[in-house]
Amino acid sequence: MTNFTAKKAQTRPERIISGAAWDDDARLDASVRPKTLDEYIGQKRVKENIAIAIEAARTRGEALDHVLLYGPPGLGKTTLAQIIANELSVPIKTSAGPLLERKGDLTAILTSLDKKEVFFLDEIHRLQAAVEEVLYPAMEDFRVDLVIGQGPGARIHPFHLNQFTLVGATTRAGLITAPLRSRFGIVHRLDFYEPEDLLVILHRSAKILNIPMEEGGAEEIARRCRGTPRIANRLLRRARDFAEVRADGLITREVAQESLRMLGVDEHGLDEVDRNLMLALLDKYAGGPVGLGTLAAALSEEEDAIEEMYEPYLMQIGMLDRTPRGRVATARAYQYFGRELPKRQPRLF
Ligand code: ADP
Repeated sequence: MTNFTAKKAQTRPERIISGAAWDDDARLDASVRPKTLDEYIGQKRVKENIAIAIEAARTRGEALDHVLLYGPPGLGKTTLAQIIANELSVPIKTSAGPLLERKGDLTAILTSLDKKEVFFLDEIHRLQAAVEEVLYPAMEDFRVDLVIGQGPGARIHPFHLNQFTLVGATTRAGLITAPLRSRFGIVHRLDFYEPEDLLVILHRSAKILNIPMEEGGAEEIARRCRGTPRIANRLLRRARDFAEVRADGLITREVAQESLRMLGVDEHGLDEVDRNLMLALLDKYAGGPVGLGTLAAALSEEEDAIEEMYEPYLMQIGMLDRTPRGRVATARAYQYFGRELPKRQPRLF
């Protein structure tokens, strides 16, 4: 695989339950990342659809239609792109929206693609408008328009590309422009994983990495990894460290509980940042509604980080809701944080 990018390192490396990739995840990724659709756990509907599309493309001898994958970080978008290339027995090139600063950066990659090759473009919502426009004829007609010469004498020269498959990934489907989205034939959202799928993922990783783990230990991690395989694998490694140093190397339920407690990860997989966010919403802003900008300023966090990394899971577990007037805490959040429900709730849940 040609890698045009190192995956963006995340801004707060101390946050154990972020779905974003860390540098030391990369080493682990290589060994535990599934390589075939069979090894890819969960996401049943997405998997079935992709399997059929792959089979059909293979039978017709054509490049697979362009694929857009969206969902929070760490749910398996990069993995699925690599699996698609693997299952099609074609090479893959990788890049990311923010790395393609000029049209020429993207053109250089597109013109180098082999027949039916997969081009994985991460963070596709962060492409600059002018660069994104290069993708339109490339995706539709497998063509890029090269400008030859300068000034009044400049000419546009169409350059024909090999048929390829673009696999775009984004954590922010809402930021994808309509013309770009319409050029993808296959669009799938990846969901947070169910605990039973996470158990399978954890046992598989533990086996590959030779980590002794009891069912109870796996259950604790599965419950607290925010439905995210990348976090599950990361917590597994931390639990192994703890088991080796403080116990006899075996990850039991108690060992997992204790290591998670030391990492500040609570019963629901919430960490200090989540708790601060919820407490600000509950106590400082009386449960909301409060605007994203205000909340971000109160927490000294980036708005993007709140929207992309913290909120999706808090919404998934029913603690926070996004309304047109701002963020609100749910009745469940009041209960979880031991706060009394106000008499006049702006919304009932
Ligand atoms: P994303 O690109 O969505 O941020 P990745 O594809 O990099 O996420 O996945 C992160 C890690 O989680 C991978 O290295 C892999 O080990 C694990 N993983 C993701 N999805 C699955 C899955 N369906 N089954 C097993 N492991 C998975």
